Amino acid sequence: MSRVVVAGAGLAGHEVVRRLLADPAFDGTITWHAGEPGHPYNRVLLTDLLAGRHAPSAIELPTLTDPRLIYRNTQLRSIAKADFDHLVIATGAEAVIPPVRGNTVALRTLADVRTILAELNADGNLDETARRDTRSRGEANQDTGSGIAQTDRPPLAGARGETNGETGSGATPTGGVPLFGGRARSGARGEATREAGSGSGMAQLGRSVLAGLGGRRHAATRRVAVVGGGPLGVETACALASRGIRVELLHRGPHVLSRWLDAESGALLAGSLAQAGITVHCDTDVSAITGGIWPTADLVILACGAQPRVGLARAAGLPVGRGILVDSSGRSLGDERIFAVGDCAQSVDRPSGALAALDDARRAAFSIVNGFSPLPAAPPPLRLRTYGIPGADVAVMGRPRPEASIQFTDQRRRTRKVLVLDGDVPVAAALVGDVGAAAALARAIARPTAPAPQSPAALLTSGAGRGAGGFDGT
Ligand SMILES: Cc1cc2nc3c(=O)[nH]c(=O)nc-3n(C[C@H](O)[C@H](O)[C@H](O)COP(=O)(O)OP(=O)(O)OC[C@H]3O[C@@H](n4cnc5c(N)ncnc54)[C@H](O)[C@@H]3O)c2cc1C
Repeated sequence: MSRVVVAGAGLAGHEVVRRLLADPAFDGTITWHAGEPGHPYNRVLLTDLLAGRHAPSAIELPTLTDPRLIYRNTQLRSIAKADFDHLVIATGAEAVIPPVRGNTVALRTLADVRTILAELNADGNLDETARRDTRSRGEANQDTGSGIAQTDRPPLAGARGETNGETGSGATPTGGVPLFGGRARSGARGEATREAGSGSGMAQLGRSVLAGLGGRRHAATRRVAVVGGGPLGVETACALASRGIRVELLHRGPHVLSRWLDAESGALLAGSLAQAGITVHCDTDVSAITGGIWPTADLVILACGAQPRVGLARAAGLPVGRGILVDSSGRSLGDERIFAVGDCAQSVDRPSGALAALDDARRAAFSIVNGFSPLPAAPPPLRLRTYGIPGADVAVMGRPRPEASIQFTDQRRRTRKVLVLDGDVPVAAALVGDVGAAAALARAIARPTAPAPQSPAALLTSGAGRGAGGFDGT
């Protein structure tokens, strides 16, 4: 009988435990350490809470109950002191905090969302939508638009609070709706850890960008700066804009989503965002903005990426680079009894994101039971949650290169479709404004051996205008 210890109750840790318990061949016990208080939740759906679409209870992951499971609502502090045959490190990542000052919050956890909503709610009633959403419990996890399909509920999901937890596991963090307090709280992080730089030209730009962000105090007219023009920054901006909040989106790159989209696509997207009250400022390095600028924004939300949480592994002497170094099956390069899964792991060509975390978990659980690892799944596509902002839908599959083979742009509708071919075979695509073809493209790119369509260009028009519905990222 094998003893498994799992550290982390995010998507990856939860999926490892779920799969082990559901596998009839698993004959061991699991001790599961969670790093955050309350019930495990789907981090991907945090922006739904910002948009007021759901209550926190709707993004909870299914409760896992089993006599073989011991749930501890405390972090695993030391690998050396743990007693295991297999250890799964699923400690995720922590937000990158650039050296900015002022009223800043990094968006990474449910606690961060609470802080943001409380800050924005100072004189308004921003959680009204969520408060009305009392019937939505459970819907969010089945929302395929996020790229995370959670419809395969585990057979062991059951009532809360039934695990063998020593600290009252499975309790909901909020106890249901209403959700958040009506007055501003002091949870926002104040001064960031490093002092801002002193680039005066950039400081001038920052002043003009952020001038007037103080504004009136009513929530609907307050303005927020979001730092980071990647997927999380754009999603966050859209979530806030969908509640009528004006947003300044500051991005270090040359155009929004610059790691995923070409300049023309980025410009079209920025135009659609502007229509929704989101002003995009590119080539803006916030670390160079100095002196009294940031405090003039009501709130600065940091969406500047995440770095793998490697402290446990490093303290145990396991090989660590940017993340915990693992082989292609997810085993630590330093100890084959130990797996690292999800955002904390690093290996050659490992994709990032939630679907990759779930795939890591699938393979680690399989390896623990069977002793060998199945092949990794195809890299997941990028899909943004844009909360009904017209023209802001984005889907990216593969790594689009500048030398796109086929491209269509409709300036009037602000849509653009780019397809990259290797010979006749589609290898990458990017869609802005109309993502109706995403599902067909994702299938064609993930399975290049399937019969090619008569005209690859026809792929770009399949499902046109259908919107994001039904695309589940597979
Ligand atoms: C707002 C937001 C939106 C996102 N949207 C998307 C999206 O649309 N698509 C996508 O692909 N990705 C998205 N991501 C990224 C995605 O959430 C992550 O890739 C995914 O959650 C990684 O899961 P994980 O389990 O590896 O890590 P995490 O979800 O970070 O979970 C790790 C958990 O381990 C805990 N922990 C840390 N140390 C210990 C310890 N010593 N002992 C026990 N527990 C510990 C942490 O507290 C945390 O709860 C989003 C991220 C955020 C923040």
